[in-house]
Amino acid sequence: MDTLCVVPVRATKRGEERTPLDGSHDVLICGASFAGLAVARELAGSGADVLVIDRYEIGERQTSACGIPTLWMEALGLMDAERQRFDSLLFHTPHGDARFPLPFTFSTFDYRELCALLWAQCDASFETAKVNGRRPAAGDREIAVETDRGAISAPLVVDALGWRRMLASGDGYQPPDAPLSRGLEVHPEGTGEDLELWIDRRYVPAGYGWSFPAGDELRIGVGSFDPGFHVRETTELLAEDLGADRVRYQGNWIPHKLRRGAEGGVFFAGDSAGHCLPLSAEGIRTALYFGIALGRELRGVVEGRQDRETAAARYAEFNDSHEWKFRWMLRVQRLVPKIPPRVVGPLLRLLSARRLVEWSFGHYLEIAPPEFAGSRPAGSANDQEGAGDQQGDADQPPGAERDLVEAE
Ligand SMILES: Cc1cc2nc3c(=O)[nH]c(=O)nc-3n(C[C@H](O)[C@H](O)[C@H](O)COP(=O)(O)OP(=O)(O)OC[C@H]3O[C@@H](n4cnc5c(N)ncnc54)[C@H](O)[C@@H]3O)c2cc1C
Repeated sequence: MDTLCVVPVRATKRGEERTPLDGSHDVLICGASFAGLAVARELAGSGADVLVIDRYEIGERQTSACGIPTLWMEALGLMDAERQRFDSLLFHTPHGDARFPLPFTFSTFDYRELCALLWAQCDASFETAKVNGRRPAAGDREIAVETDRGAISAPLVVDALGWRRMLASGDGYQPPDAPLSRGLEVHPEGTGEDLELWIDRRYVPAGYGWSFPAGDELRIGVGSFDPGFHVRETTELLAEDLGADRVRYQGNWIPHKLRRGAEGGVFFAGDSAGHCLPLSAEGIRTALYFGIALGRELRGVVEGRQDRETAAARYAEFNDSHEWKFRWMLRVQRLVPKIPPRVVGPLLRLLSARRLVEWSFGHYLEIAPPEFAGSRPAGSANDQEGAGDQQGDADQPPGAERDLVEAE
């Protein structure tokens, strides 16, 4: 692939700019994508010394097709990052199409802009650093994290690093023998009217293909619930079928099983806690939702209203209270590939009846409802200009260094 041979243009600091980084903070948030930024946003104005770290600059590496219920963008004040809005979902199967009229709209957004907008609502500090793992405890209350710029410690540490769950002690997943799906997409220039999904074994035996238009860009990809199925060839096939260029790859493993929210003194949110929903592989909304819930618990600690253990217990309880919903969605995810292909088209047309869609999508939204986001926390400070300045080149091959792109 041409694109994968291009050296990415990085905004990330290199060489001498990468000064040693160590010391102690009130809160250390590892991972500056949806989950990590949602936690930081919730801590704005608390007076806590919060450090956010990521191996890339904020918004530098897109981690998804960036489709989300519009209501969530509205609730978080992120509408400026919206690129396109959809009031229906168009399914394609080898045995006909079905259009679901949605009871709420979905939007696609610009990743870097959305991250910048979230960051503008935080008053934390940010540094680029690659997390290597945990270090032996620096003291009774401190948790130390080893990075490529030194060891950083804090009594409150968040792992928002994605599916790898790097700061866990001993329950790491190794693909492909783990409850992980895999997804890969290309981002060609192009336009489209519809949010489109393909349930077609030509592209993937268990999973689906998609095309998400986002203004002047399409995000075309394939996700497989079976981690053993390589999606690269069929992602390219789908792009080819749609007459789109196979450029700017982006891919990753996607967890489809809920994991513990807190463990060994560390808190987990987003993909690190398995918060991506099975079946739909929708993980942005839930990363924001659980990130907010966690941020609120941590705020209780830094403001002296509760201790870390109470926060961990409360967050774990909140996390676990969603387990049955994730379990049900996983059941459906496992069921879908067993439905004979000739039945899928007619079945989808039956399910597309407006009242049924309203009922099912209403329940689906309730898993992580937008009202939960509440209002913007007081005291946010970082100006957007600074965050925007950190961004890299949109033409880089976004997935070039990511595990799945390499694996494919
Ligand atoms: C191809 C594809 C398309 C998808 N499309 C959608 C979609 O349209 N809508 C949707 O809702 N969900 C989608 N998802 C799922 C969604 O991307 C994830 O669930 C979501 O990004 C999880 O957010 P997060 O903040 O937990 O993790 P991530 O967004 O993965 O962020 C993890 C952060 O940690 C950083 N990091 C990782 N390792 C290290 C390290 N060692 N040191 C320092 N930093 C590190 C990364 O740079 C990154 O910034 C898609 C997934 C894939 C793979």
